Amino acid sequence: MLPAVTSDFEAELRGVSLRVTQPRLAVLRTLYDHPHIDTDRVFSLVRAELPAVSRQAVYDVLHALTQARLIRRIQPAGAIAHYESRVGDNHHHLVCRSCGGIVDVDCAVGHAPCLTASDDNGFVVDEVEVVYWGICPDCAASSITQQPSSEGNR
Ligand SMILES: [Zn+2]
Ligand SMILES: [Zn+2]
Ligand SMILES: [Zn+2]
Repeated sequence: MLPAVTSDFEAELRGVSLRVTQPRLAVLRTLYDHPHIDTDRVFSLVRAELPAVSRQAVYDVLHALTQARLIRRIQPAGAIAHYESRVGDNHHHLVCRSCGGIVDVDCAVGHAPCLTASDDNGFVVDEVEVVYWGICPDCAASSITQQPSSEGNR
């Protein structure tokens, strides 16, 4: 019951000279369907598809795909790593300080680096990290009624 898009993922893997394996295809498919999920969530979704896959195998796949830039690792300060398959368009993220939710936001400029340094000190700048921090609409609505007591937040 593999969906038709599988062949595209195979082509993506071949395009970066990675061997096509079931765990790699499953991770790509999972991130395509569920953007911005953390390692545990990737593991449980892939595991549902491939019961024999080990946690280490999923870690290795995430690492290899990130290295090959087929997926992007997002790690907002103070948060655990999340992954997504939307790469190459220099989009940014809105991150909720309360629930940690991550939402895509298109780059206003569309290409990196989208901000000009006031003084680049001679560096050839090729990337700017932009993260929009704030409170998502759901958390904003619920914080009116109750303030969650969170420990360990900086
Ligand atoms: Zn939130
Ligand atoms: Zn994204
Ligand atoms: Zn931008």
